[in-house]
Amino acid sequence: MTSYLKTTPTADGFFGDYGGAMLPPPLEPHFKEIREAYATISKSVDFIAELRQIRKHYQGRPTPVSYLKNLSKLCGGAQIYAKREDLNHTGAHKLNHCMAEGLLAKFMGKTKLMAETGAGQHGVALATAAAYFGMECEIHMGEIDIAKEAPNVTRMKLLGAKVVPVGFGGRSLKEAVDSCFQSYIAQADHALFAIGSVVGPHPFPMMVRNFQHVVGVEARDQFLEMTGELPDMVAACVGGGSNAMGIFSGFIDDDVSLYGVEPLGTSSNLGDHAATISFGADGDIHGFRTLVLTDENGEPAPVHTVASGLDYPGVGPEHAHLHKTGRVNYTTADDKEALKAFYALSRHEGIIPALESAHAVAFAMREAGNNPGKSILINLSGRGDKDIDYVTETYGYGEDL
Ligand SMILES: *Cc1c(COP(=O)(O)O)cnc(C)c1O
Repeated sequence: MTSYLKTTPTADGFFGDYGGAMLPPPLEPHFKEIREAYATISKSVDFIAELRQIRKHYQGRPTPVSYLKNLSKLCGGAQIYAKREDLNHTGAHKLNHCMAEGLLAKFMGKTKLMAETGAGQHGVALATAAAYFGMECEIHMGEIDIAKEAPNVTRMKLLGAKVVPVGFGGRSLKEAVDSCFQSYIAQADHALFAIGSVVGPHPFPMMVRNFQHVVGVEARDQFLEMTGELPDMVAACVGGGSNAMGIFSGFIDDDVSLYGVEPLGTSSNLGDHAATISFGADGDIHGFRTLVLTDENGEPAPVHTVASGLDYPGVGPEHAHLHKTGRVNYTTADDKEALKAFYALSRHEGIIPALESAHAVAFAMREAGNNPGKSILINLSGRGDKDIDYVTETYGYGEDL
């Protein structure tokens, strides 16, 4: 690991001013158990060997880096490359940390994996891990999301997961987190709450980053092998921030510019976007300190983006820290730019990206012209099969964008 990764976060989970663990007292012993188990397995030869073999023979790693020659030509200026996390089993980077969390649960002697899900992507990835390890799986999901994301609900059920509908409050992601925490408190002796991004109380932001680190390590080697150099710029979309930390962590000690792309939704007015770093303020959410988008009462604000996987009013504490230190530049792409990028990558490269990942594609398309002779590597965090019905029913084939 690089020197940055060895020294960040601190032993109690702080990335500068951000992170930590604010837990309800009944969960404290269980998080202590998770911290200790992770400290043990991260140095265990058996754990590392089994994770490597899962990645290679089940997930399909390493995923390639592709040179996007047609898109580069179309945009003019910089050369654009993509790390192909869309080619992971289940179609996104989320399986990188879900399989590792499943393996951690197995080493801890747990028999059940639990999580919340918004659009269902994390639920599907975790249900996949549970099926692989022969564990029970319980996924909490808001009733509104259940109605919107029927195919992912079907997938989770086929994979053997129990989907718990959440019918209180806004009946969406935030309530699903609250509901899952409640249920977990009663089952924490035999279950692991597998958080879906680099968020939540310590050790999850560090642990999920380290499980995603493989993306950056592979991408760095592959890019060097392809071009003989490191990329000038590396970009990724930021929701909670796990795919971005995965690729950034491979380049964090290098002289490479890093860009996190947040969703600007339909406008910069509160409620119309989910650009937490760009518009948020210091605050606490779900047991850790970070930047948060809040309403006039100090409660997490409603957020909007066309990419439901980026729909979170907080962000991983490490991103809040890397923003403050200036090591990563944070910028935005709005719904329309993301949709244009979705159509462009599909038509010109034969790759249908997830709407989340399309935000990173939009960044590369916008910046290519400003950076002639440079190279931009984006993390293509997932494939867009899940989005094609919504996109074409709402925007046709993009003629009017
Ligand atoms: C969930 C998801 C994201 C957002 O999560 P991060 O933790 O910010 O990476 C991005 N892309 C895809 C394809 C996703 O499924």
